[in-house]
Amino acid sequence: MARSRSGTRGKRGPRKPPRRDSAAQGAVQTLDPAVMGPVEIPATITVKDLAELLTVNPADVIRELIKSGIFATINQLVDRETATLVAGELGYEVGEAAAAPTAEEAEAEAVAEAARPSVFDEDDSAELQPRAPIVTVMGHVDHGKTSLLDAIRSTAVATGERGGITQHIGASEVTKNGRRIVFLDTPGHEAFTAMRARGARVTDIAIIVVAADDGVMPQTIEAIAHARAAKVPIVVALNKIDKPDANPDRVKTGLVEANVVIEEFGGDVPLVPVSAKARTGLDDLLEVVLLVADLQELKANPKRPAAGTIVEAELDKGRGPVATVLIQTGTLRVGDGVVVGQTWGKIKALEDARGKRVMKAGPSSAVVVLGIADVPQAGDVLEVVEDERKARAIAEKRRNEAAAKDTSSGRATLEDLYRQIQAGQAKELRIILKADVSGSLGAITHALDQIATDEVKINVLHEGAGDITDNDILLASASDAIVVGFNTGITPTAKRTAEAEGVDVREYDIIYKLTDDIEAALSGMLEPVLVEQIEGRAEVRQIFRVGKSTVIAGCYVTEGRIVRNSGARVWRGGRVVATDKLESLRRFRDDVREVAQNFECGIGLAGYHDIVEGDVIESFTQQQVSRAAAR
Ligand code: GDP
Repeated sequence: MARSRSGTRGKRGPRKPPRRDSAAQGAVQTLDPAVMGPVEIPATITVKDLAELLTVNPADVIRELIKSGIFATINQLVDRETATLVAGELGYEVGEAAAAPTAEEAEAEAVAEAARPSVFDEDDSAELQPRAPIVTVMGHVDHGKTSLLDAIRSTAVATGERGGITQHIGASEVTKNGRRIVFLDTPGHEAFTAMRARGARVTDIAIIVVAADDGVMPQTIEAIAHARAAKVPIVVALNKIDKPDANPDRVKTGLVEANVVIEEFGGDVPLVPVSAKARTGLDDLLEVVLLVADLQELKANPKRPAAGTIVEAELDKGRGPVATVLIQTGTLRVGDGVVVGQTWGKIKALEDARGKRVMKAGPSSAVVVLGIADVPQAGDVLEVVEDERKARAIAEKRRNEAAAKDTSSGRATLEDLYRQIQAGQAKELRIILKADVSGSLGAITHALDQIATDEVKINVLHEGAGDITDNDILLASASDAIVVGFNTGITPTAKRTAEAEGVDVREYDIIYKLTDDIEAALSGMLEPVLVEQIEGRAEVRQIFRVGKSTVIAGCYVTEGRIVRNSGARVWRGGRVVATDKLESLRRFRDDVREVAQNFECGIGLAGYHDIVEGDVIESFTQQQVSRAAAR
């Protein structure tokens, strides 16, 4: 957080007249409020944007917020009421916001939104029309997912489009017997997992590709698991049937072992032999897909406002955010106001897979949309709402909620495991395990089994040979697992994803080091390497309630010093009533790092807000020694 070092000393008490000290910092070109005239503040605004709007330093805004007991970071959203107060304190006049809804309106709309059933739920059965199936191709690496998609596309492109240059937009359409089939073009299950992790159900049918010369492999099993978890029917494409060493029986047995019972064996999973290379069996495959689709009686109402899922999105230099949306129901039109995940927009243009501008797009079609405010994420749901204004209000509300959630929910990490076990929050340690060769996997899982304790199970959710990929990270993120790599690398994108998602990735080259760490984490043995030091104590003299839940304890430091961001123990009548983090520390108006003995200060804890007068807050720090460094 950016902080002002030029803090003005003042006294706690009634609000002072407007005070400007940002000019001293020279970083921001400050405009005189009188010259600027009234400012317009939207229903919600980030601290950073507010500072920009007021042409002041963000630290000034943060300081004003702290005065009101709000400990905001630079990217945090505040509502208009609060922002108006801050602006007023800083000497700015706030005008009536014309376009933006009020906080109450936004609230009311968001409440209505929360009460609404899923946007994909159909209501008017009279308007329901059959729709084309949406298909994903999954399977083990090198089994021919990409080749199969290419082969299908080039042999079954929609009539009249043959030879047309289709651009990659993340999904494509083919026609068979005059019926459309939509394929999600991102082979593998990255997209599938990413979407599922975010709760979106897009696919109607999963084609699982298995190479006849290889058989059921780890990623085949994983793909089956994904399809099953998403309750999506499976069609097996037995690929590479042209190869001399093709061995369909081995694949079939492998499938049985993976609990996939094909029709030939009395089950309900169709298996179609194909060759992506020789382009054989493709018609059969498409026909089977249509049959499976028929069983599902896929329907949608083209007359309702559109709802769909983002399959790809990027920031285009010239055109701004562009996204491919797979419309699942309704019809999307140019000019529609849309909410897309946490962003919103007004559809400026729609383009089909051939780059052609269209005015509308109906159920089960993929179109590129222009006019969204920010780049959405794959898996975000797009839905048409009454107008832009409402779209914006809903998106802002979602961002608020997400920001609030962000600070409260931590991801699983090995360091944190013991605390979670103690708190009864963790009953198992979930692991995604990757190793250089599959031979190591068995040895590692066996070793891990040995160290599970009565309290904590070790659950290897997924194991596989090869680098740690995006898919592993997404799976870990979706299931709150850690990722362990043994003698293997991590792809650069996976690394970035792990950082973004906050997934704990650990890499080892010796099994005992891996098991040592996990054993230590399970038994709390990572704890002794944290050396605790009591920094000081402060007596609570007065309680300030700010807003609904935030409590600031006005304290007097009786011994040592109180340190911001340290641990905090709340003592009452000789007993500890809470252990928490000392999140905010303030002397008069200034946010400070520490407060020494015999001084007053304001303390805010991260989660515990039931402090009462007479409590003693103990500030403690932990010296963290990394086990890797200690070895
Ligand atoms: P993916 O990793 O599953 O997308 O697999 P690819 O589509 O990249 O295919 C992997 C390799 O298998 C490539 O060298 C393809 O040329 C080859 N391949 C794919 N399908 C067939 C097939 O039907 N027959 C033969 N002989 N080779 C194939």
